[in-house]
Amino acid sequence: MPIKRKELKNRYKELFGEVSNLMNEWDPMRFESAGGLVEEYDPEVARILAAAVKGISDFELSQKISLAMRESFEDDFGEKETLEIAKKVNAAISAHSVFVAGLMRDTENAWESYRRINFAFWGMLLFSIPFVLVAFAFALVFRLSEAAIVPFLAIYVVTWLGVGLGRSLFQCPQCGNSFFMGTGPMRFYHPFSSKCVNCGCPVGGP
Ligand SMILES: [Zn+2]
Repeated sequence: MPIKRKELKNRYKELFGEVSNLMNEWDPMRFESAGGLVEEYDPEVARILAAAVKGISDFELSQKISLAMRESFEDDFGEKETLEIAKKVNAAISAHSVFVAGLMRDTENAWESYRRINFAFWGMLLFSIPFVLVAFAFALVFRLSEAAIVPFLAIYVVTWLGVGLGRSLFQCPQCGNSFFMGTGPMRFYHPFSSKCVNCGCPVGGP
């Protein structure tokens, strides 16, 4: 039986905490001596983990770490240090390998179903114009009354609305909330958002 999504999320939080601890121990920006916060490196941890769960070598990962750190802090860190961290992150990932694989598969499947329904939604919207034109041409050629094609148009519209409803109910694999609809008292709806309105995770994100 596959591991439940909730269990996967909890295990991910554990792994995140472990890598966050590694970064805090390293603390290349010396936040701790400056009285900094414990979560100071969390955005970098998220980036590093997103790359690391794909299963890359220590060296490749150390380069991703360097890049993430350079972009965040505009500073270069020793190759030896980043390689050291990369080894530790990869070790933490192998200790969690079973659930990491489950999480990756689960997330990938979710984005795949998102892409399918999104493609259907926009595809049907674009295709509606040629569809109407062809329906009228058909009526003209076969000398049908315009009313005869109304059921076909209605079926098309209802199908499209159904696809749109399914799309709007899509749940973000990252946070488990609705991707397009905000939680809380103001249930605002952003049908054009390319990021989860609740956690900011982009389509295809970790
Ligand atoms: Zn989300």
